Amino acid sequence: MKARISTRGLLYDFVTVYMEAAEQHVMHLVARYAAVLGIAPPTVRLAASHNGPCYEPLFNRIEVDAPTLALPEPLLCLVLAHEVGHATQRSVLLFDLAKTVFRVTALIAGPCIMFAAWPGEDLWRVSIPGALFAILVTLLFPTWRTRTVQRAKALEFDADAKAATLCGARIALEAMEIMAKRGRIDATRLNVMRERCAHAEDAKEAKSTCR
Ligand SMILES: [Zn+2]
Repeated sequence: MKARISTRGLLYDFVTVYMEAAEQHVMHLVARYAAVLGIAPPTVRLAASHNGPCYEPLFNRIEVDAPTLALPEPLLCLVLAHEVGHATQRSVLLFDLAKTVFRVTALIAGPCIMFAAWPGEDLWRVSIPGALFAILVTLLFPTWRTRTVQRAKALEFDADAKAATLCGARIALEAMEIMAKRGRIDATRLNVMRERCAHAEDAKEAKSTCR
């Protein structure tokens, strides 16, 4: 009796084996980079979404999507090294998250407490806390936004610097140039990496001249 071979079944098996091998490879790279940077390795989760890789400080986890898994090796190494770089910032990221939750809670709680504490049912009981909330948001939001953007940029540069340490500045720059062409990295990060690479090569040259 001839056994029936299902094409769909074979394809499923092939994809499963490929994904498992890719996942193992990613976990190995993450563990190696974490060891070099002196931190406990974050866990790795394969995400069904196509939003790109990200680090989740709350769970100390790196999420990797399928397009990232399919990247050529130098790009995959850069991306993972960058995410492990974020894992070294975990305490800072968690502190920032706690600060944001506290600020938003305080912003909402203040007018709510005023509303609850004032007696009567007059219009001012609602309008004054409401107006106070609107004024606080108008005054504070632009500053918060600017600071958040600056903070996020600083953390990205720091993660890039750690990726350059792990992969080598020249290799990191070449990988970032390809990622920039694909629209995955902005020009500012690329320029900072170019400067970093130039400094690293100047320092290497100076060292070899001194010998
Ligand atoms: Zn990042």
